[in-house]
Amino acid sequence: MSVAFQQCIHPDCAATYDVGQILTACPKCGSLLDVTYDWNAVPVPKSLSEFERRWTTRLNPVDYSGVWRFRELLPFATDEQIVTIGEGQTILQKNDKLARQCDMKVGHLFLQYEGMNPSGSFKDNGMTAASTHARMVGAKMTACASTGNTSASLAIYAGVTGHFQCIVFVGSGKIAFGKLSQALDYGAKTIQIRGDFDDALARVRDICAKHPIYLCNSVNPFRLEGQKTIMLRVLEGLGWQVPDWIVVPGGNLGNSSSFGKAFMELKALGLIDRVPRLAIINASGADTLDEFVNDGKLVWNGGRPNADQICGRYTTMDRDNERASTLASAIEINRPVNLEKALRALSVCNGIVRKVSDQEIIDSRARIAATGFGCEPASGATIAGVLRLRKEGVIHADDRVVCILTGHQLKDPDLTMAYHSGDPQLMSKKLTPAGVTSTPFANPPVVVDNDEVAILKALGLA
Ligand SMILES: *Cc1c(COP(=O)(O)O)cnc(C)c1O
Ligand SMILES: [Zn+2]
Repeated sequence: MSVAFQQCIHPDCAATYDVGQILTACPKCGSLLDVTYDWNAVPVPKSLSEFERRWTTRLNPVDYSGVWRFRELLPFATDEQIVTIGEGQTILQKNDKLARQCDMKVGHLFLQYEGMNPSGSFKDNGMTAASTHARMVGAKMTACASTGNTSASLAIYAGVTGHFQCIVFVGSGKIAFGKLSQALDYGAKTIQIRGDFDDALARVRDICAKHPIYLCNSVNPFRLEGQKTIMLRVLEGLGWQVPDWIVVPGGNLGNSSSFGKAFMELKALGLIDRVPRLAIINASGADTLDEFVNDGKLVWNGGRPNADQICGRYTTMDRDNERASTLASAIEINRPVNLEKALRALSVCNGIVRKVSDQEIIDSRARIAATGFGCEPASGATIAGVLRLRKEGVIHADDRVVCILTGHQLKDPDLTMAYHSGDPQLMSKKLTPAGVTSTPFANPPVVVDNDEVAILKALGLA
């Protein structure tokens, strides 16, 4: 028996399954699955700083990977089975300019810039792990539904490694061109259905259940194992000290769930002495978690959250055909598949949930980008959340705060241009329908004749 197994997260079931099985829910009760480990049988370092020795062995791809250099903390594969393309070369960056804007002490606000991954979003952290598992079980065909970045990520792993083919399902209309063009470029079979992300995911889950196709959405418990390492790199960037806050946008809640699992395990292993608080930020047009937690007082409750409450809400959502709607397309999701795990993360990390408007998201995105960290709209929700939580006094000026910048700026240049251009047509087409009525951080291009005097005038030099 391997040291790793899959386990149902429901405490009344807790059934276990071999890592060799392809599952995205517990066959007995339908709950989500974790990958769990017999830690006594794993050579876990005594201190997180021991991982630093891998920095000197960068010619080994498994040591070079920002995910797999922590492989003793996600030990479900052998080194030979690991599928890596050099993901996770991301670093924690102090940002004093934003700290001042958020009325925080300088030196206390950090950005974990995950846009630096091979496909331009944090998704690669998870996809390297799912791809590894797909290879372990001999999958020939993989699939995912996507608001864009999951498909770009799966497509790059399929394209670079050649271990399997991939099919991606996307909704109509809303997908950012930067992301869709990646899937097409990397050669993914791309199915664009008439519907939104929630529809696409329901469809691909059904198809994967009926056919030998390996599902790579974040219901895949192996993906979340890879995403745990984002938190390890945050700790690494802080000299292995635990920050006070992790702030992350919430869509399908895979990231927040994996962060909670990472801290739960690190604490249990004695590798950290406390856990940070977690702030999950929804867009107000896709605020299911916020509604459940803040209005409905839904809690993890030791693994027994109120199932009737969840079910009841989804029934009315279906009845009224309520659809998610936000410019932050990566988090435009109404039925977060990892809801229960995110509730667990909130419980482990004494977490909170907030929602922010598209105006706040888009303005915050521009403010982040103006400090040199280009990110896509969903990532802007982090600073929008910090601004909000500073006003509320929940985050203190001298707390140490880490914002997860989930995706790269070039994923969605259309929106960036609509914001900066000052072109009323672009504005009214892209921004006004979402309630964005002003662009206070716009930096429009100055249009002048190709004439020295005119140019000098525009520059204030004549
Ligand atoms: C997928 C994605 C998110 C949402 O993450 P979840 O784990 O689904 O909550 C946020 N931002 C970007 C850029 C993403 O690609
Ligand atoms: Zn179960």
